[in-house]
Amino acid sequence: MAVSNPTSTAAFLAAVTAALGADAVNNSASERADVGRHTLPAPDHLPAAVLYPASTADVETIVKLANEHRVALFPISTGRNLGLGSRAPMAAGQVVVELGKRMNRIVEINDDLGYAVVEPGVTFNAMYDELTRRGSALMMSPTAGPPDGSLLGNAVDKGGGAGPLGSHFDNVCGMEIVLGNGDIVRTGDGGIDSEAHPNWHVTKYSFGPALDGLFTQSNYGIVTRVGLWMMQRPAHIRMFFFAFPDDEDLGEIVDLIRPLKAAQVVPTMIRATNDLYLISSQQKHPRHDAAGKLAPLTDAERRELQKKHGVGSWMVSGALYGASAAAVEPALERVKAHFLRSGKARYIPVEEAEPRAIFQAAINSNSGRPAGGELQMLKWRPGDGAIWMTPGARMDGAAVNAFQRGCRAAAAEFGLEYMASFVCGQRFARGIHAILYNRDDPEEAARADRCYRKMCDVFRSAGVFVGRAPTIYQDYHQNQRTPEIVRACNAIKQALDPNGVIAPGRYGIH
Ligand SMILES: Cc1cc2nc3c(=O)[nH]c(=O)nc-3n(C[C@H](O)[C@H](O)[C@H](O)COP(=O)(O)OP(=O)(O)OC[C@H]3O[C@@H](n4cnc5c(N)ncnc54)[C@H](O)[C@@H]3O)c2cc1C
Repeated sequence: MAVSNPTSTAAFLAAVTAALGADAVNNSASERADVGRHTLPAPDHLPAAVLYPASTADVETIVKLANEHRVALFPISTGRNLGLGSRAPMAAGQVVVELGKRMNRIVEINDDLGYAVVEPGVTFNAMYDELTRRGSALMMSPTAGPPDGSLLGNAVDKGGGAGPLGSHFDNVCGMEIVLGNGDIVRTGDGGIDSEAHPNWHVTKYSFGPALDGLFTQSNYGIVTRVGLWMMQRPAHIRMFFFAFPDDEDLGEIVDLIRPLKAAQVVPTMIRATNDLYLISSQQKHPRHDAAGKLAPLTDAERRELQKKHGVGSWMVSGALYGASAAAVEPALERVKAHFLRSGKARYIPVEEAEPRAIFQAAINSNSGRPAGGELQMLKWRPGDGAIWMTPGARMDGAAVNAFQRGCRAAAAEFGLEYMASFVCGQRFARGIHAILYNRDDPEEAARADRCYRKMCDVFRSAGVFVGRAPTIYQDYHQNQRTPEIVRACNAIKQALDPNGVIAPGRYGIH
């Protein structure tokens, strides 16, 4: 069932209104248009209606009624999934369940044990404000994207930040889920038949299978609360930045980062971000307002922009944490010596970086401050089109450089700009690619679509997959997997959501 028929949807909405009140349902044309809009190269997906549950019991009621009326639901937390589908459902006509509007409580913050428990509507900003208000010792891991995004929604979609806890699903411990069949399950130690669950959010490895991963990038249930681990805020945070001049330097950068991460000199992820990724967060395309089609930036124009913004072809950023400035000094000297040994890197002292807007996204994300530093990217070209392409790569400089070359060529072939940031650990780097295009121009949108597929092929031909995928490409990617894994995903769907009411088609699971 991809979409329900209009008669059953009308009966379902009447039943939800009777059970939860009129405030829980909105099917006005303006709300549907707003929620259905996205940034991808495909028509908007207008939902049949938007529902606003206020509790897990409300979600249970909605799911049970959806089963009764065979209506397809699409759950979102705050729906700030920009470049990946925004708030729009998988297909027009599905009913969006927007949890964030009324389920937005911070249930607990435990300073001593270092975790929080949140409902879907708790945003990065709300958590930051609450930690500040309490004078908490904890530091959260924000994204460089929308500060009004959901901690829970981002984590279940496997989003990430740049600090030591940057892989957000890794921090999830203990979930509550309303399954597609209407059952409420609590994972880990939340599943013990007891009044009290003291271990629910402090250990992931309880009795039985670890089920939590089933509820990431899937459609088996609606997540209504999660525990999230946080770290102690370090007394001193020292950023470092290096500029590398040439496009081909990426390979050397990756090979330099790997041993630093392996030796645990740097606690944060280390990001290698290219010129236009950073510059697009500061200004529009220089010919944005010119009439007619926007030709891609020439190499000479790109070099001019590098000079204007004081960046190289690649910028490396990360942070050191310690008890004081003096305590982190030896590690800083080691990091500097390490990168400068290449003979190509230019060290940018923190005094030079701190006042400059172009470095704020890195500074904020490594300091636990949500600030939306990269959102201006969406304005690079007219029409606000954006697609994220998010493959990974082994931390092998030659391999990453080959990907860089292939994707740069793909961007040029389709008349768009190459924008990429590699978020590096010891073994693996997530390669975040922004394809920015004019969504109001169907010809340019078609080129952006072909560019996405071509870039994916660059990675796929080397046996490398994407991480998160935009909604319109989820079937395409699922079809690139073996039949056995697809069958396993669909069998779990059948077991937990036999009528297929939760987000049919999400991540290619039917
Ligand atoms: C310029 C820019 C920079 C960005 N930078 C980053 C970044 O640094 N890191 C990053 O991770 N992302 C980034 N993003 C992508 C995206 O905007 C964020 O990940 C954002 O946090 C996702 O929106 P959300 O948190 O509101 O989650 P939602 O949109 O609410 O959720 C994401 C998806 O998860 C599913 N889902 C959500 N809640 C539930 C639930 N309760 N039960 C079941 N399924 C659910 C839904 O399918 C939903 O579409 C960036 C985007 C832009 C435009």
